[in-house]
This record gives sequence, structure tokens and C-alpha cells, in this order.
Amino acid sequence: MGARTAEEIIDKANSAGVKLVRFLFSDTNACVRGKSSSIATAAQRFKSGIGIVKATMAQNLLDHLQTDSGYSATGEVRLIPDLDTFRLLPYTAASASVLCDLHELDGQPWVSCPRSFLKKQIASAAEMGFHVRAAFEPEFMLGVMEGGDFKPIDRGLCFSSQSMNAADRFITRLFDCLERQDLKVEQYYAELGAGQHELSIQPAPALQAADNLVIYRETTYGVAQEFGLTATFMPKRSAEDAGNGCHLHLSLWNNGSNDEQTNLFYDARNSQQGNLSEIGLQFTAGILTHLKALTALTCSSVNSYRRLKPRSWSSAYTCWGIDNREAAVRVPSLFAGLENQTCNIELKVVDATANPYLALGAVIACGLDGVRRKLKVPPAVWCDPSELSDEEMIAGQVERLPQSLNEALTELEADLFLFQQLGAELANTFIVVKTSEVSAYLDDAAFEFSTHLLRY
Ligand code: GLU
Ligand code: MG
Repeated sequence: MGARTAEEIIDKANSAGVKLVRFLFSDTNACVRGKSSSIATAAQRFKSGIGIVKATMAQNLLDHLQTDSGYSATGEVRLIPDLDTFRLLPYTAASASVLCDLHELDGQPWVSCPRSFLKKQIASAAEMGFHVRAAFEPEFMLGVMEGGDFKPIDRGLCFSSQSMNAADRFITRLFDCLERQDLKVEQYYAELGAGQHELSIQPAPALQAADNLVIYRETTYGVAQEFGLTATFMPKRSAEDAGNGCHLHLSLWNNGSNDEQTNLFYDARNSQQGNLSEIGLQFTAGILTHLKALTALTCSSVNSYRRLKPRSWSSAYTCWGIDNREAAVRVPSLFAGLENQTCNIELKVVDATANPYLALGAVIACGLDGVRRKLKVPPAVWCDPSELSDEEMIAGQVERLPQSLNEALTELEADLFLFQQLGAELANTFIVVKTSEVSAYLDDAAFEFSTHLLRY
């Protein structure tokens, strides 16, 4: 953006003809909600924030308020904008947006604010001397709605240029809209599923990486609307087709200035273990130790568990491997000459129904737990883990991931560390909201598919 003071932002918005500024946040379900301020009063609202009822975080995917969370008709917070996230929205007539934290009326971050939770985990990492870099890698499907059914725009082969042609005008516009909002596109290709495409964004500091995913999804939906198309990030659009993952790439760096930064995950000598450093291995061990509970926060919908199946490249087991696309944590091979920059781990157990702030914050918390406790990783897995015998699984500490949201929520409740990191109020709200969705979709797959298509 360049312009960052409130006055500069308002000037810029006025000259771009902006009439409304959306104050947005990502709710418990990763659905983006908020309120808009007229540009005429935006300067004041930047300072005071906009009021919203706490109970919004206790609304489930059907917008049914879950009062068991403790939130109900009373209780108010403020949407406090982070002006660094201000963006003109190229796919709207005259709107801009700003991403917000949720603060109590006394100005303190609200305990159930997902973005503040991520900030807290980033601060814990910084106290240990770590600067977290991350990138979400969303996959989505593009289609048209016909009589309530989603018809993919192409049925081309994975990575095929025919599919690229089918989506070309859409992707070009999406690329342009993302770059105009300061998201740096890295790669684009057609994926395996019908109408499935993947356009990835360069890694960024952790908070920005989560903000980027919010902006990315907003933009994808907005551009799809311009073309009369529907874009969906739902984890499993149909039982027969590929899933939509939202893999998370992560690395830890030292806290030096940009020029001096060193990737603390990289160890040139450890080629046997994907060149991961001791810190990288411990961080991975922390993730694997907590992974079954973590899954509730990274794959947060009933629909998510249709995706996490063996032989889907989504991962289905708690294991890690080098360039192993069936492993929950994949260590991608390094690029020659770019070893320091490209060394990272990829968590595959993530989809776009996860609130990116909760998911990334929780992954950081678990990784740091591994570093603090100097946890050891089990041996890397070099095959499809579904082919391991029971004995090999026990010996290698390989376990099946939760097979339903309900199972994942039970794991979360039992993981004292993760529960405490979230704090009882946030954890309880999350579990209550998600449990209500488990009940809502019980025995009604058609209802589940249709609402997830609508929301994601
Ligand atoms: N679509 C796969 C998933 O659901 C990922 C395919 C890949 O990019 O490796 O995670
Ligand atoms: Mg992919």
C-alpha cells in the first residue's frame, strides 16, 4: 500500500472513489464477517473501532447462536482495524477493507479473538528468538451453479494447459486483483480435481500470511462473482473428486534484519533428514505430538474429514517424510542455490474451513512446545503410510488422524497443552460451535455438502 497513516489512507481511499470501508474479521468457522463504515466517518472509526456482539463468535455455519458458549444477547467488543491491512477492493464497486482484532471495551484484546491469539503465539516465538514465516497454499474449484448443482468449468488433466485455458480469464483477473492488494503470486497451475486450480502466494511473516489467506479467499469469491462463476474452497466437494487442501508452509528465522536473516530450519549437513536442523526437527516433533488434537483447528468442518483419507495426498496419518505427499508433514526438497530460502516444512492437514489465525497460532504453539521440550521426531516415513503393517505403525509412532470432526474435538479436549494455549473461553466456544455442526449434519450428507459449498 505504501500509505499507512490514517490520514494518508483516507486520502488514498477518497481519490480512489471509495464510499465504504469494510471492517472484517474471520469468525470461528473462517467465514469473514464485519461491518462497513462510510468513508466520511472512517477516520473516526479507525480510532474507536466498530461495535459487534461477542455472540458472533458463537454462531455456527448455519448462523445458529450457541448460547452454551456463554455468549448471548449481551456482551460487546470492538472491531479494531490493523491499518497495515487496509486494501482497496478491486472487485467491488467502491469499497475498501481492513482486517480487525476484537478488543474488549477497555481496549484489551478479547480472549476469544483469533487474530490476537496468533499474535500471542508470534510473540512467544519472538521471545525464543524466532521469527515465523508462513504461507497457506489454497486449492479451490471453479464452476457454475445450475439448478443448485455445481458444474466444474473443466475436466482437464492435472497440470494441463487445457484446464489453464478454461480458467484463463478468471485466473488473469484474480492474479491482477491479488497483486493490487500486495499479495505476491508465486505459481499457478490446474490441479487434479474437476475445475480445481491452485495459485500460490509467497511466504510472509506469520500474521501477514494469515491475513493473506483472508484477502485471498475474499478476492477469489469476489472475482468469481464478477464472472458469474462460483469458487469453492470446501475440503471435499464430492466423494469421488479430489479434495481442496490449504497446506501450510512454515519456517523459523532468526530475528535479525532482513539482510542478516538466517533460516533456522536449514542445516546443510543433515541431508539424511531433508536438511532440517535440530530446531526444525524438534518443531516437527511438536506438531506430530499434538497433531490429532491440532487437526480440529486445522481441519475444522464436518466436511474436512471426507478429505483426510489415505491415497489422497491430503495425509491421513501422523507422520513426516521427505517429499512424501502422503505424510502429514512433508519436507520439500530444496532448490539448488536457494537452500537457505527454500527450507521449510509443509503441513498437509489443513483446509480452508480452518480459521487461519487459530490454525497457524496453534501450529506455532505446538511446534514451539517441541523445541522447548527438545522432542525427537520418529523416523521419517518413505512410503505411503497406509501400506505400513500394524507393527510398523506402532514402531514408527504412526497413527491414523481423527476420522471425524467429533473425534478431533475429543482429541482437542484431551490435549491439555493446546487447550491451555487457546484459553478455556476460546477453546470452549470453538468446541461448542463445532459440536453443534456435528449434530446439524448428522445423517444428512446432502445438507452438509450444500451448506459447505455455500459458505466456503
Ligand atoms: N488436493 C490435495 C489435498 O487435498 C493436495 C494435492 C497436492 O497439492 O499435493 O490436500
Ligand atoms: Mg496442490
